Amino acid sequence: MSPLRPILSGQNIVDTRLGSAYDLLEFIEKHPELFVITGAGISSNSGIQTYRDEIGNWKSNNPIQHSEFLNKEAARKRYWARSFGGWPNVASAKPNDAHKALVKLESRGYVSTLVTQNVDRLHQKAGHKKVTDLHGRLDQVVCMDCGSITSRDQIQAWLRDHNPHISGIEVEKSALRPDGDADVGDKLIHEIKVPQCPSCSGLLKPNVVFYGSTVNKEVVNYLLDRLRKAKALLVIGTSLMVYSSFRFCKYANENQIPMACVNQGLTRGDSLFSLKVGGDCSEVLNQLIGYLPE
Ligand SMILES: [Zn+2]
Repeated sequence: MSPLRPILSGQNIVDTRLGSAYDLLEFIEKHPELFVITGAGISSNSGIQTYRDEIGNWKSNNPIQHSEFLNKEAARKRYWARSFGGWPNVASAKPNDAHKALVKLESRGYVSTLVTQNVDRLHQKAGHKKVTDLHGRLDQVVCMDCGSITSRDQIQAWLRDHNPHISGIEVEKSALRPDGDADVGDKLIHEIKVPQCPSCSGLLKPNVVFYGSTVNKEVVNYLLDRLRKAKALLVIGTSLMVYSSFRFCKYANENQIPMACVNQGLTRGDSLFSLKVGGDCSEVLNQLIGYLPE
């Protein structure tokens, strides 16, 4: 029960306490229609890298920017070469205990809305029914000219067929980066042929929200409406450093919606939570499920 140091100014500072999975059980029983936000921390036990360390610093090179991808062929070459190496790890990742725990909470009616910053589709693979992919999905590729959607697997096969020099590359675990990115050699990047839209030969982009782009306004408004109707906000496995997810905490704070958080490190919302549970997402949520009455 030690207070966390407020890191924001001008907010309604609540009396945060550090608690356990049991405290989280009390929280969700008191507020049984949760609006849940998840981030990279929930996928790390599935072998998918997180962007930031426990104090919120970048772990690796900054990710690609939206305008750079659209405007520079060199950036697209770099993206497709690196993602050719990284995609198989995301495609084969399996949901972990934290994803499965949320499926149980949904089936028992505790979760009214689940929003994820992750693009790996692991909540859906676990069987979660209603999920909003706030930053899109990596298993799809979208044409920026005609809007048609192609599966990432189809594009992976195209890349393999048209780039014999990279088709056999194997990427070490240590070279994997978040969002299906991986460190690969400069020569591979320089020589790669990039895919085009199968329908109109237009510019293809993974169906994700790159840094420097924004989340669709209608999606945000729909989610704020869901949050208004929810009884509480639960943040899991994210440092909330990007505004697209932090805005929900800000909104909850302004509307006196109670907030709890499960995260291993510091978050941007630490001064706003009434309960913060530190530790591994899978362990904490597993314990929580164990405490739920049958
Ligand atoms: Zn097209």
